Amino acid sequence: AKEEGRNQIQFYSLDLENEVKRRTRIEQGLRLALSNNELVLYYQGKFDALSGYLSGVEVLLRWQHPTDGLLAPDTFLSIAEDVGLTEQIGKWVLNTACQQVSLWLKQIGQYLPGFSVAVNFSASQISAVNLVSVIEHALAESGLPAHNLELEITENALIKNPEEIASVLDRIESMGVTMALDDFGTGYSSLEHLMHFPIQVIKIDKSLVATVPQDEKGCRLLTALLNFAQGFGMVSVAEGIETQAQADFCTDHGCNLLQGYLLGKPVDAKTFETQFLLPTLT
Ligand code: C2E
Ligand code: CA
Ligand code: CA
Ligand code: CA
Repeated sequence: AKEEGRNQIQFYSLDLENEVKRRTRIEQGLRLALSNNELVLYYQGKFDALSGYLSGVEVLLRWQHPTDGLLAPDTFLSIAEDVGLTEQIGKWVLNTACQQVSLWLKQIGQYLPGFSVAVNFSASQISAVNLVSVIEHALAESGLPAHNLELEITENALIKNPEEIASVLDRIESMGVTMALDDFGTGYSSLEHLMHFPIQVIKIDKSLVATVPQDEKGCRLLTALLNFAQGFGMVSVAEGIETQAQADFCTDHGCNLLQGYLLGKPVDAKTFETQFLLPTLT
């Protein structure tokens, strides 16, 4: 047993060493990623549950790493946060997304009524002092109308300094931008607390969507959250739809929009055009 214990410690410290090396490599590369044009935006459609029409896109960040391949945000965003690069990356994401979607709307906007582009914002981005001017700038530069932009914010981002954040979000909402509450059903704040923020859309987390229709408690919780959204006049989105049974359950219980691999995986802008935008023209 003593031998085993020692081996295990060695195993863990080796792991830790690799982790430290990985972080250092990511950190150094990340500083150059922006100037080297290695960051890429992927687009995933959101679809009307009843008609199946494309109603908008969510923008998801990727890093085309020179040696490690295409990296998902979970592998580098927390490191970006630690080294203070979130603000810069966040601005790039917002500006690039607004420019891309503004272009799409200029080309085929008449076929996409009410089309929205949703951009994820982390807690530190939301509490940044100049958030309002960053958004104003992105809209002005791109020519994207404010009502076509949506911010996706998690509950956790609303917990610190709630009064301050509510007043910033109120200002952004009064510009015409839509606010969506992301990962709904996974946080710990009370519904009463959430009512203090200008939220028009709730996105039900994929961990909950994954439980239906097999799990009875999951079904009841999902149904309750959809009823809650409807009762407050909010738009509901179910994310992580992978099966027809999940799509049917959500639609049958009044969910407005569906998003997930079943309907469309996140893809780069060119692929999104050919797979999802061109078909809307016919
Ligand atoms: P999220 O906002 O909850 O995004 C949903 C995640 O689920 C995305 O992972 C998406 O690719 C994935 N997904 C979509 N459909 C399905 C499905 O049917 N099944 C499953 N299993 N997964 C699905 P991704 O792209 O790796 O992003 C992870 C998280 O990183 C996002 O979670 C979001 O919180 C964050 N993130 C992504 N892009 C940005 C960004 O530009 N800025 C900030 N601050 N955060 C971002
Ligand atoms: Ca999101
Ligand atoms: Ca989620
Ligand atoms: Ca998330």
